[in-house]
Amino acid sequence: SASLFSAIDMAPRDPILGITEAFNADKNPAKINLGVGVYYDENGKVPLLSCVRKAEAILIEQAAPRTYLPIDGLASYDAAVQELVFGADSVVIQERRAVTVQAIGGTGALKIGADFLQRFAPGAQVYISDPSWENHRALFESAGFVVNNYAYYDAATRGVNFAGMLADLQAMPRGSIVLMHACCHNPTGADLSAEQWGEVIAAVSAGGLIPFLDMAYQGFGAGIAEDGAVVRRFVAAGGPLLISNSFSKSFSLYGERVGALSVVAASADEAARLLSQLKRVVRTNYSNPPVHGGKVVATVLTTPELRQLWEDELAAMRVRIRAMREAFVTKLKEKAPGHDFDFVRQQVGMFSYSGLSKAQVETLAREHSVYAVDTGRICVAPLNAANIDKVVDAIAKVL
Ligand code: PLP
Repeated sequence: SASLFSAIDMAPRDPILGITEAFNADKNPAKINLGVGVYYDENGKVPLLSCVRKAEAILIEQAAPRTYLPIDGLASYDAAVQELVFGADSVVIQERRAVTVQAIGGTGALKIGADFLQRFAPGAQVYISDPSWENHRALFESAGFVVNNYAYYDAATRGVNFAGMLADLQAMPRGSIVLMHACCHNPTGADLSAEQWGEVIAAVSAGGLIPFLDMAYQGFGAGIAEDGAVVRRFVAAGGPLLISNSFSKSFSLYGERVGALSVVAASADEAARLLSQLKRVVRTNYSNPPVHGGKVVATVLTTPELRQLWEDELAAMRVRIRAMREAFVTKLKEKAPGHDFDFVRQQVGMFSYSGLSKAQVETLAREHSVYAVDTGRICVAPLNAANIDKVVDAIAKVL
């Protein structure tokens, strides 16, 4: 007889996990996986930052009991996140108009925001960039939203189709939710210029749209304050604003699941009511967040020496990524002179839409043990002095 679950279909495979499986099965010792979304250091290792190690030493020494955190997370963490995201001198902090809740990574922050909006902006539809982080659509759909795309990537220029994006923003119904990458766009690596952000903010304000900024890579673009500048510009424009941020990359704390959702309200009173509702979303999902990652990040951000160490370590990651982009472009120019990869230098963050076709990506994997995403997205962070020539040679061969 049929079991309760006998009619359940297999869910579609995660495309990125498929790459990891193929990569793991490859016996070539020189294999390299550019399909990941993780920062590797010059030795090909995911770093454990010194600031994290030192914060953990302090926490071990404290040997604190593992009590529950408040529903909205560790207060010192939430306060430190606000200063990082909005700037320490932000008017929304002074006026108590910003609320921040600790979340289970950037994904958890997006989900709290989505569930909250589903309750309080129920008829609204969501718009995400074309393309976007592959989980954005599924996450907002699972929260009950209809999810649409707005124009973003321009394959011809390997940059942003800004006219298309602006036209799509201007055509959205009032009250629509627009998800934007604050910096280091995943998957394309193509960001808006400061001037273009100005036009986007004006269109969002004029159209009465609800901006939701996903900031998963603060500090990987131009710097911590520089990457956060767009948040401050949205704040200055007024209106509602949601920001999800993640420390997975900037602290190399992927598996600790540390992130936060911040929401800007019109008044302190509105903010208090809004926070109570955000807590309700958290309470009914997982009650309260885990302790360790939040304590590590709060300790680093609020201890001046550790804070400086983190900023230095984050800068080193950013600088190394840039150096790899430079080396990649320079070396490809030598090996494949007929092809222009200069755009890789313009792109920011860990990712690059390389322009490689699906067939080229398949050949790279099959014949050269170099793995990338079907769309041609490569992560530049796994590149290092020891493997970059092999990668460039392989790409030059498949072009
Ligand atoms: N948003 C974007 C754009 C991302 O690239 C990622 C991670 O890859 C996330 C959110 C999720 O971050 P986390 O791993 O902290 O959940």
